[in-house]
Amino acid sequence: MDLPELFRERMKSLLGEEYASFENALTTDAPVSIRLNETKSRRMPSLERVPWASSGFYLSSRPSFTMDPCFHAGVYYVQEASSMFLEQAFRQHLQVDQPLVLDLCAAPGGKSTHLASLLSGKGLLVSNEVIRARVKILAENMTKWGAPNVVVTNNDPSDFSRLRGFFDMVVVDAPCSGEGMFRKDAASIAEWSVENVKLCSERQRRIVADIYPSLKEGGLLVYSTCTYNREEDEENVRWMVDELGTELLPLDVPAAWNIASEGLGYHFFPHRTKGEGFFLALLRKSDDSGSFKTKVKQTASSSKIPAVFNDWLNAASDFQVSARNDTFYALPKGMAHLAAILESELQVVQAGIVLGKVKGKDVLPDTALAFSSLICEEAFETVDLSWKEAIDFLRREQVLFQNSAKGWVLVRFDGHPLGFAKNLGSRANNTYPQEWRIRMEADESRYEPIWRD
Ligand code: SAM
Repeated sequence: MDLPELFRERMKSLLGEEYASFENALTTDAPVSIRLNETKSRRMPSLERVPWASSGFYLSSRPSFTMDPCFHAGVYYVQEASSMFLEQAFRQHLQVDQPLVLDLCAAPGGKSTHLASLLSGKGLLVSNEVIRARVKILAENMTKWGAPNVVVTNNDPSDFSRLRGFFDMVVVDAPCSGEGMFRKDAASIAEWSVENVKLCSERQRRIVADIYPSLKEGGLLVYSTCTYNREEDEENVRWMVDELGTELLPLDVPAAWNIASEGLGYHFFPHRTKGEGFFLALLRKSDDSGSFKTKVKQTASSSKIPAVFNDWLNAASDFQVSARNDTFYALPKGMAHLAAILESELQVVQAGIVLGKVKGKDVLPDTALAFSSLICEEAFETVDLSWKEAIDFLRREQVLFQNSAKGWVLVRFDGHPLGFAKNLGSRANNTYPQEWRIRMEADESRYEPIWRD
């Protein structure tokens, strides 16, 4: 691998005699790993486990995920294994019954889908991405994951200063110089320079300083990067302790995991662990920056809510259905007022599960409902598609339902909902979102089921 000479020198001084095995590891293939969506999958696959993540698994090779309908159904997320270490910070230190969690730098959604699983329907996750073009993929991935207690926002870190003392946990998976991604992403090698490392480090401090007021007293700050250098990692953590007054929290890490630490966070190196380069530190806010106070806002009156939503939702009484423009969405009852506060302070892209909209006498179910853990599948005519039909559906092509009644059909593959089609008899309208459609031609020879439920 053609590494910048200065990077080599810096890594040699960081790793000493381990450097040769580090450079050698960069010449091997990056491991492939997935994280299972336990609300969708009905059993654990018999695959090698990622030791620090309860739903993380390694695959022996990289299949064509595009050709797997279960990938599109949000049954699993393809995520680099080291990043799943976030789970340890969450499980070992977050002791709040209904946590309010912010994932500040969230696109494309690896850590947000993980956090949504860890929250397991409790509390609220605000999944934010500042770059507008990247919010779309974040919203798509969160929709497919299907958790109802998620709000996706598109804000600059400084906008969150309006929410003083709001969050129990803030995750800053910071934009960085990407040294840990060199094996996977040649562009990050080309962009690397000592000047860029410095710029990244300064930007990371600005991001953390901007977001810090939104953390509650006693709240947890997870700071992570996918880079190795001290400027972006240890020195920034030292700055958070010295300048912001945060307290560094230790994690219980079994020696067998081979994670490196000099006391200011945890490093994953590809020659030591099966994964890419990653760094994570967990800190606690010890001072009181004031708590968020606002009048609880009234949300939309239930009088205009179509009654059919009660049939479409499991445990409908646990959810509040509200209207946003002409669209109805559901949020867990205890969280709906918080989502309304977020709506007034931030640029909310989506909140909870979009159920559908009213058009004339018809109520049109939204694709998000199909992906959601809330859907009551019995309320719909369901059709299980073959692999080819499922790919055609995901390519937004015509699918025929000759044996089904006219009306809304919930289409599934291997039991997992993929969306809705309106069966008109001689043809059906495919409502799979245009911007999500698969552009690749169907090629069954490239389809390898990762596992079957
Ligand atoms: N957490 C994501 C995941 O697990 O899938 C990966 C996040 S990536 C390491 C960093 C993110 O920070 C990118 O999505 C990038 O667009 C965003 N970003 C870039 N500049 C930023 C800034 N000034 N403030 C906040 N986020 C920024």
